[in-house]
Amino acid sequence: MSLGASALLAAWEDGTTQHPVQRGLTLLAAAWPELPEAVLSQMSIGQRDAALLTLREQLFGPRLAGLAACPDCREQLDIAFQVDDIRAPLPPADAAAELTPLTHLVLHLAAGAYEVQYRLPTSADLLAVAAAGDAAAARQALLRRCVLALHQDGVDAAETALADLPDFVAQAVAAQMEAADPQGNVQLALDCPACGHHWLQAFDILTYLWREIDDWAQRTLHEVHLLATAYGWSEQAILALSARRRHIYLEMVQG
Ligand SMILES: [Zn+2]
Repeated sequence: MSLGASALLAAWEDGTTQHPVQRGLTLLAAAWPELPEAVLSQMSIGQRDAALLTLREQLFGPRLAGLAACPDCREQLDIAFQVDDIRAPLPPADAAAELTPLTHLVLHLAAGAYEVQYRLPTSADLLAVAAAGDAAAARQALLRRCVLALHQDGVDAAETALADLPDFVAQAVAAQMEAADPQGNVQLALDCPACGHHWLQAFDILTYLWREIDDWAQRTLHEVHLLATAYGWSEQAILALSARRRHIYLEMVQG
């Protein structure tokens, strides 16, 4: 996987008007052009995020940094960690193949009188339910897509019971989905140095990486503008320069 400046800029341009989930797919398609779109969109969310972490490391290095606010005293914390710190171990079934769809796995859950067979949600699922309205409707629509079979007291209940699935069953499925696909739900354990409060903060690589790419793209276009003005080079020629060469020319231009 190797994504050059020109291809990344094109992906950024496409992504600016897209739904965030679609942006993730656009980035993966640019980074892994050999993989069919159907494979990318059928990866579980954890697999997608593992691939985005790999892409992030290639583009901007392994160190991640940001700000967090203590939920107790509002103290601002500088946080920094490595890509490897938040990599979840791969599920044993797919340890050898990071990009093989996990979503062919059929998972089972027994809760009360219910037995549920389901698969993990994918980007395609999240896109399909994105228009569902509120969060509760989206959760219900996601469950409908991912539940493969439902039995109540041993009787097939997929048609009748899915709509009125008790909350405790729906929540058990959601919890087990997260546990089965841990890379899709990264939690940072943070301690506040001011008040000692300890909490878990969700970290979403897609949001984080997209913001970085957006900053990079604005910076890069400005650099193209400066170099094109100074030397008359084409955008394509400037983007083909290594970041190091571009930087040295910029220093000369800016004197
Ligand atoms: Zn605090």
